[in-house]
Amino acid sequence: MTRNPDDIKPSFRSDVTVELVKHTAGDSDVLWAARVSTAGEQSLDELSKDPERSKGLINYLMRDRHGSPFEHNSMTFFISAPIFVFREFMRHRVGWSYNEESGRYRELQPVFYVPDESRKLVQEGRPGKYVFVEGTQAQQELTGRVMEDSYRQAYEAYQEMLDAGVAREVARSVLPVGLYSSMYATCNARSLMHFLGLRTQHELARVPSFPQREIEMVGERMEEHWAKLMPLTYAAFNANGRVAP
Ligand SMILES: Cc1cc2nc3c(=O)[nH]c(=O)nc-3n(C[C@H](O)[C@H](O)[C@H](O)COP(=O)(O)OP(=O)(O)OC[C@H]3O[C@@H](n4cnc5c(N)ncnc54)[C@H](O)[C@@H]3O)c2cc1C
Repeated sequence: MTRNPDDIKPSFRSDVTVELVKHTAGDSDVLWAARVSTAGEQSLDELSKDPERSKGLINYLMRDRHGSPFEHNSMTFFISAPIFVFREFMRHRVGWSYNEESGRYRELQPVFYVPDESRKLVQEGRPGKYVFVEGTQAQQELTGRVMEDSYRQAYEAYQEMLDAGVAREVARSVLPVGLYSSMYATCNARSLMHFLGLRTQHELARVPSFPQREIEMVGERMEEHWAKLMPLTYAAFNANGRVAP
């Protein structure tokens, strides 16, 4: 049955979704893994034995970049964000597992990214040394209008092909990178720290990075979840310049 283009109602978002869907991650996991090297097999409840010593050990591991004790834990996030964020995200190969929704097996839904007024629109400076500044009211209005028009047109073309019997995997070629996708991403504290060091900006970062704002929004939300699960590890990460061990 042919759909009426007027029935297709794209929706426009400016935010990202990040849910912690499962985890086995705590500061005890770091201590447990680290102490096997000096004391052999350990109980998992290392933290409660001597909290100050535990805190010191985690800080020492972070400072001297003994990284492997930070790998014995797991966090799985459900993330919904524009495809251009996922293109950047999946460059992180080590210590990450991904499963993303399929554009071959299901019809993609018309949800698209439009920046809100908090998103700085104008880049000033040269490559490698630039800043982003607020756009004018006119630039904001133009960006919203042009993006929405373009998304509508692309999604209508997609629908037209589907209605004519063209396969989803072929028809999706016309959809833009502003389309939302979703995935599960599983990592451990070490791979998350490496990600955060590159994809967030922070006053405590010893090595500054310049991430695109939208992937930074995802990183900030993952960081909030992780900070609650592993507060000592999180504090040591910040205290040591936000460089992954
Ligand atoms: C601000 C910013 C701008 C960027 N711009 C671009 C761009 O313009 N174009 C572009 O293509 N990418 C760009 N990237 C992506 C970047 O080059 C990395 O691919 C991405 O940040 C993932 O980092 P990673 O390789 O360290 O992470 P992971 O893939 O998770 O690797 C983790 C670590 O494992 C080691 N490692 C992994 N694979 C190898 C290997 N094959 N050989 C040796 N060591 C390895 C390295 O020590 C690496 O740091 C950008 C990233 C950032 C943060």
